[in-house]
Amino acid sequence: MSSLWPLPDDPIVAEVSSAARRLDLGRRYRELDRRPEFPYPEFKALGAAGLLGLSLPAEVGGRHLPLHRVAVALFRLGYLGGTAFAKLALQPEFASVLAEHGSPALVDAWFRPLVRGERLVGNQITEPGAGSDVGAIALEARRSGDEYVLNGTKSEVAFAEDAGAALVYGRVPGVAPGGGITAFLVEQDRPGVRRVAGGGDLGERWQRRGRVEYEDVRVTASARIGEEGSAFRYVRGELARERGLLAAIYLGVARASWDETVAYVGERAAFGRPLSDQPSVAIPLVDDGAALESAWLFCGQALDRLGTDDPADAAARTAMAKAMAVDAALRTIDHAIQFHGGRGYSQALPHEQRWRDVRSGRIAHGPSEVLRGIAARRIWSRRAATGNP
Ligand SMILES: Cc1cc2nc3c(=O)[nH]c(=O)nc-3n(C[C@H](O)[C@H](O)[C@H](O)COP(=O)(O)OP(=O)(O)OC[C@H]3O[C@@H](n4cnc5c(N)ncnc54)[C@H](O)[C@@H]3O)c2cc1C
Repeated sequence: MSSLWPLPDDPIVAEVSSAARRLDLGRRYRELDRRPEFPYPEFKALGAAGLLGLSLPAEVGGRHLPLHRVAVALFRLGYLGGTAFAKLALQPEFASVLAEHGSPALVDAWFRPLVRGERLVGNQITEPGAGSDVGAIALEARRSGDEYVLNGTKSEVAFAEDAGAALVYGRVPGVAPGGGITAFLVEQDRPGVRRVAGGGDLGERWQRRGRVEYEDVRVTASARIGEEGSAFRYVRGELARERGLLAAIYLGVARASWDETVAYVGERAAFGRPLSDQPSVAIPLVDDGAALESAWLFCGQALDRLGTDDPADAAARTAMAKAMAVDAALRTIDHAIQFHGGRGYSQALPHEQRWRDVRSGRIAHGPSEVLRGIAARRIWSRRAATGNP
């Protein structure tokens, strides 16, 4: 990817800008915080505009754009519509294991409608005893004839109340002891599925996170995604891709706050001169601009590594891209709150919402400590193998 600003002269930027204007995404983003709900009309409209599943193959309804163009589109969506609509655009990406390893019937019934914005598919990995440590997943999927019977609890999951179906990750007894997680596509209205609303979140409230309990929930073998015990092998590439793309979203959201703050401090006078004349105001903003740009370049480089013959290197770089982008974005938005003064801290301006929403990025899709751990393992394993980290 080239420099952060201006964005490349790519038609996808105009496409996203026009959809954001038409759907009034900036206003809706603010409304979703005050009145948390899943934005079905906008989801469907984004699907109709071809903005869901941008990187996915045409055979499953995607646009198959190169990742650096998808990053540009997500950056722009984040800039204009906050984290909400950019993350919605990535929702099919989060479920791409279904497109790649689900049966053709499941893909037709759930994945294509997801890309059209007509059906919502959640991702249920986390459990009360298994978050970062996905190896501790305990939800049991016991074989019974040509069915599986699911028992266990998923927690902290987005769209707990809204998803029509979810990719549910569980353990089939007897398969690959010590590993071997299997994924199932489970309709959320099946007998034995109980959805429990969460207590409300700091940000990203529209995701309406909560708990989903499974008690003797029967699914047919055709609901299984790929082979038993293989889910995390499938998901590894998807995770690296989604982390690199999430980085672009956080940078877009923060760039909006940065632009607004640069304009504001150039005009707001205190002590007889513009705030931008104060080095203690101007210099943090200079640093923030450079940090966003550095994270953007790193993000582009990390995305370019995906699909090369060194997936471990790509995974380490996209993990770091996300961790760096979230840190740069939070620092930038914090300065936006600060330099807008009393109004910056209020809900009259979008900065506090953006900060709360982006803050989830230090936990969701891999806590920053875990991501840095991935990069650390890569450095020292390469040093051990080649003497050169
Ligand atoms: C907005 C949001 C949306 C989410 N959506 C979903 C969803 O749709 N589906 C889903 O399955 N889950 C979802 N989650 C849950 C999320 O994936 C987990 O919260 C996350 O993986 C961390 O797991 P945990 O909460 O159990 O924390 P733990 O694993 O208990 O970790 C707690 C903290 O300990 C530290 N830590 C943990 N492990 C290490 C380590 N190895 N090294 C150093 N420090 C470590 C980190 O600071 C971490 O934040 C969502 C979370 C959020 C905030």
